[in-house]
Amino acid sequence: MKMLEKVEEFNMEKVIDEFEALTKDAERVQRETLRKILEDNASAEYLQNLGLNGRTDPESFKAHVPLVTHKELEPYIVRIIEGDASSILTGKPITTMSLSSGTTQGKPKYVPWNDELFETTMQIYQTSFAFRNREFPVKNGKALSFIYSSKQFKTKGGLAAGTATTNVFRNAQYKCAMKALQSPCCSPDEVIFGPDFHQSLYCHLLCGLIFREEVQLVSSTFAHSIVHAFRTFEQVWQELCTDIREGVLTSRITVPSIRMAMSKLLKPNPELANLIEKKCMGLSNWYGLIPELFPNAKYVYGIMTGSMEPYLKKLRHYAGELLLLTADYGSSEGWIAANVNPKLPPELATYAVLPHIGYFEFIPITELEQTKFLCVDPQPVGLTEVKVGEEYEIVITNPAGLYRYRLGDVVKVMGFHNSTPELKFVRRSSLLLTINIDKNTEKDLQIAVEAAAKLVAGDKLEVIDYTSHVDVSSEPGHYVIFWEINGEASDELLSECCNCLDKSFVDAGYTSSRKTNCIGPLELRVVRKGTFQKILDHFLGLGAAVSQYKTPRCVGPTHGKVLQILSENVVKSYLSTTFN
Ligand code: AMP
Repeated sequence: MKMLEKVEEFNMEKVIDEFEALTKDAERVQRETLRKILEDNASAEYLQNLGLNGRTDPESFKAHVPLVTHKELEPYIVRIIEGDASSILTGKPITTMSLSSGTTQGKPKYVPWNDELFETTMQIYQTSFAFRNREFPVKNGKALSFIYSSKQFKTKGGLAAGTATTNVFRNAQYKCAMKALQSPCCSPDEVIFGPDFHQSLYCHLLCGLIFREEVQLVSSTFAHSIVHAFRTFEQVWQELCTDIREGVLTSRITVPSIRMAMSKLLKPNPELANLIEKKCMGLSNWYGLIPELFPNAKYVYGIMTGSMEPYLKKLRHYAGELLLLTADYGSSEGWIAANVNPKLPPELATYAVLPHIGYFEFIPITELEQTKFLCVDPQPVGLTEVKVGEEYEIVITNPAGLYRYRLGDVVKVMGFHNSTPELKFVRRSSLLLTINIDKNTEKDLQIAVEAAAKLVAGDKLEVIDYTSHVDVSSEPGHYVIFWEINGEASDELLSECCNCLDKSFVDAGYTSSRKTNCIGPLELRVVRKGTFQKILDHFLGLGAAVSQYKTPRCVGPTHGKVLQILSENVVKSYLSTTFN
């Protein structure tokens, strides 16, 4: 598949046919992909030291190259960051770095970025667009895309660094590709690349309203940004209407380049301002806001699975009858799989692996658990060897210097598209909450929070965001859940929520430890409104981008500042009485 160079080149049927051909022959395509990666990077010091001696077959590769995590690659990555321009991980030296969002570990991680990764990004965008557009066509419209570039900076050794999405948005070919995919962003570059996220968000909303008739889709990389944007809209809609009425941008936008760019778009338009005002006032609790504002929108688009699932309820509320389509599956380390079944709701979505964008291996979770105690390496299986119904941890080999890299994600195989697996994202592999023999993952926490949130929903309140913490500062240790809610709930109700959270962790390790008081009563700490915004701002300050932001679902010792923000903002706390 060739990268898009001209707008006219995109041919939907051709892209689908190519995908079908590649996935019918996934095993051979995987061998070819590995061969190309190893040939292109044969001179890399990392591979040379492992004694591959030019061999490129999967068997030799697995025999010589160890499974690694980011930690093992760090010494190599540090040398690159510090300016060592020799062939360290790749044949062609790396000149750009991506910063992953780092919300799991508390700080962003550097991973190598190169043109090949940009090319795979465009390939996956084209593939899922072709399938999506076959079902839900958009044409000659605009996208209201809540995308934000992070600050790009130079590393100690002079390499450009920014988040992976920033590296994509900054690529000269990105705009052209988006035009071809009928999704040009309605906001000018100055807004996307603006230095202040809050100002960019305000202007994205303003641009969306100015081009409201042309907007055919509302999107972001991760669904969190869309929910965040419309929560902000609820606060600023009158100010937006004033700007449109008078044709003058509010004085709170202070970045000169953004003011200049917006002044070209903003003309006094009292009719539009009145119309939006009327629509906003006519809505009941903002239900169906998105289609009201953007009558020609065909769907809402962004990653909606995994840690984005908790935002689905609110997103559905804003979207009303409008469809929610989940985007693709990937990471700063590389793309993995595309949503080629766009008709499925996000809860049922699967992602089909693109066999030509990387070499993929899968560690069976059952084996991972067994080998942990035996201190031997788990044995991954190949892309076409996975079994339906089984869960696996993904291992990536990409064209940018990662070889047999454990990404840390667990997926479940739901079926096959031709001979490539269709994956459901299950969770990050690291355990979130564990004190004793208890084991609770991000998903377990989500289930518990959803159960307890139903109790406050009865009072028309919602949990805006949440996170957790294991408190072992006193004996016995206990789980702490932090909640931000959008209004006042009674102490009685919140105590009930606290008990419900405690009861909802149903793994036997937890319940037995609770009964024997090896784990103390669960604590619910309610934080002030705006606390999670402060956490987001903290990550932005570290170089993360809103486009890739995921609320950390557990804060531990590596999240010192986040824990401090949370602790400073606790307004009420409750201890469970469930097992008393
Ligand atoms: P980052 O490198 O910071 O952008 O984060 C990448 C991580 O986001 C992945 O390893 C996944 O854990 C998560 N992620 C990416 N795409 C999806 C998806 N479609 N569904 C669920 N989680 C995803």
